[in-house]
Amino acid sequence: MKLLYIVIDGLGDLPISELKGETPLGFAETPNLDELAGRGKLGLMYTVGKGIAPESDVAVISILGYDPSKYHVGRGPLEAFGAGLDMKDGDLALRCNFATLGANRRIIDRRVGRSLTTEEATELSKAINREVKLESFPAEFDFKNTLGHRAVLVIKSKDVPLSAEITNTDPAYERVEGMGVAKAKFEMILKEAVPLEDTEGARRAAALVNEFTEKSHEVLDGHEINRRREAEGKLKANVILSRDAGNKVPKFFNISERYGVRFACLADMPVERGISRLAGMHLVDLPPPTKDVRADSAIRIRKLMENYGSFDCFYIHIKGPDEPGHDGDYRRKVEIIEQIDKFFFGALLSKIDLEENLICVTADHSTPCILKAHSDDPVPLLIAGGKVKPDGINRFSEEACKKGSLGVLSKGSNLIPLLMKIMREK
Ligand code: ZN
Ligand code: ZN
Repeated sequence: MKLLYIVIDGLGDLPISELKGETPLGFAETPNLDELAGRGKLGLMYTVGKGIAPESDVAVISILGYDPSKYHVGRGPLEAFGAGLDMKDGDLALRCNFATLGANRRIIDRRVGRSLTTEEATELSKAINREVKLESFPAEFDFKNTLGHRAVLVIKSKDVPLSAEITNTDPAYERVEGMGVAKAKFEMILKEAVPLEDTEGARRAAALVNEFTEKSHEVLDGHEINRRREAEGKLKANVILSRDAGNKVPKFFNISERYGVRFACLADMPVERGISRLAGMHLVDLPPPTKDVRADSAIRIRKLMENYGSFDCFYIHIKGPDEPGHDGDYRRKVEIIEQIDKFFFGALLSKIDLEENLICVTADHSTPCILKAHSDDPVPLLIAGGKVKPDGINRFSEEACKKGSLGVLSKGSNLIPLLMKIMREK
């Protein structure tokens, strides 16, 4: 028996009057997911807990079976590990964005208008690593771009361990009890990192981040890639915004050893890959996602089949519906869900034998279009295949899941143990 654990990012939603009071999933035509629902059990799940609207990192930690209150150490280290950078306790890891800076520290665009290519970002990162030298305190750094405008920074102090208790330079996020939280309102001004505690480690961390920000700005602003972008009427990628500092290596138990199975991860975003790497999963190489769900799905199905014989459990993270949720674009969310159903689940069901595979489909959190943000609403949950006895509900939606025999899971961290138990049932 194999487990295909498929997480659809931000799938959950709330009823929308323009969709006849349905959610995007309820409104979408999803014959393949409906078939799976008809052959399985349904339920709902609070991915972290009732009352908590989680960021993806916290949610994914939870739905992979780790209590986030125990295991979450901040997004910076998770992204660093996902990008393939190493760090030790006392190094400072930060999530970064390439952004566009104008006069008087004004930020013109926090993501360079989403137009920076990974190739351009790679060239700019090389220039930063080559030309920036940190001198305010004895330290080195590693800077690495990941997808598009996204990047990570690890600063390694040569003597005093660095503290993560510093503010973000990215004005869009604040730190609440060590977790990154998106601000509803903010001024588009480049912030200085400020120590949040009276320690040498925090003072040095803030000073080094500010020095990095300033020096990398000088390198970027005059770089020929930016001169060319400017000549073409594009935004310059001339500043690095940082946030979600962390200074500890997360210590997850090894998921494969814990359950006596071999886990592999098919996820394309750095944070999900970082968590999976720290959980001890094998990371299957994937190209970055594009706007083409058909092509992306075909690659993922091909990679799954190539690795199918070598592993027992596959954690497959599909990014699609979260972004239209944030944009409040419910039509687009419906469309992406329909494409995932057709191109991913349609192809999957034609390739595998459901009796030999346990399939779980769920989400890391809800991203309701009417809220344009993550919420604590429970996500739909479907478990089908193997020896699972069907509930007899031939529809996959939040509404249908309410009637399912799995009920409401109060904590996402209970799901993996449940799946492992079902997998072993003879
Ligand atoms: Zn997410
Ligand atoms: Zn999101």
